[in-house]
Amino acid sequence: PPFPLKLRGPVIKGFGRGSKELGIPTANIPLSGLSINGYSDLDSGIYYGFCTLDHSTIPSSTSSTTVPSATSDTSIPSQSSSHAVLDLEYAASTPSTGRSPVYPTVLSIGYNPYYKNTTRSIEIHILANFSSDFYGAELSLVILGFIRPEYDYVSKEALVEDIREDIRVAQRSLAREGYQVYKEEGWLQGKG
Ligand code: ADP
Ligand code: MG
Repeated sequence: PPFPLKLRGPVIKGFGRGSKELGIPTANIPLSGLSINGYSDLDSGIYYGFCTLDHSTIPSSTSSTTVPSATSDTSIPSQSSSHAVLDLEYAASTPSTGRSPVYPTVLSIGYNPYYKNTTRSIEIHILANFSSDFYGAELSLVILGFIRPEYDYVSKEALVEDIREDIRVAQRSLAREGYQVYKEEGWLQGKG
């Protein structure tokens, strides 16, 4: 299919089998997101691209420490929410125009043979550190290239080793001059 491919969807709970424990958390979005521009037949495999997160779609948690009350006294500074923290981390590289930070990502689309899944999923590893989870956030994605097909693995170590290499390939690819223009995609800022 022609790149860029554009996908958008809410971050949902995945298989909960410990991507985080491997040091490689993957934000899952529903498979329906795959048909957004008509490519429901997208090849399974590992891809790279850019994404943004819209935190305003995260349901209010019951924790009073992270959600400023709507009627709160404005003289009391609200507790820093998780996204305020991570926006700060990226302030240096993001124009101060209220735009969402654009993150490089490496993602897998497929059945994940190692885990013998029977339905396809989209799992997006964002190449940035976040201080907390963002389930419910709307994730917008432009996919820019294909790295490799899915393989099966004899061990978790071999799987992780390949993912580490995929991350390096994605970083090198996305740093190329020709890709920088895609960071400006209106799609990543919720348009289109
Ligand atoms: P799940 O099985 O629910 O997808 P994971 O172990 O794959 O669980 O963790 C994914 C979650 O971790 C994401 O939904 C997101 O809320 C959080 N997360 C934190 N840092 C990242 C990151 N760099 N990339 C992707 N998700 C991240
Ligand atoms: Mg996941």
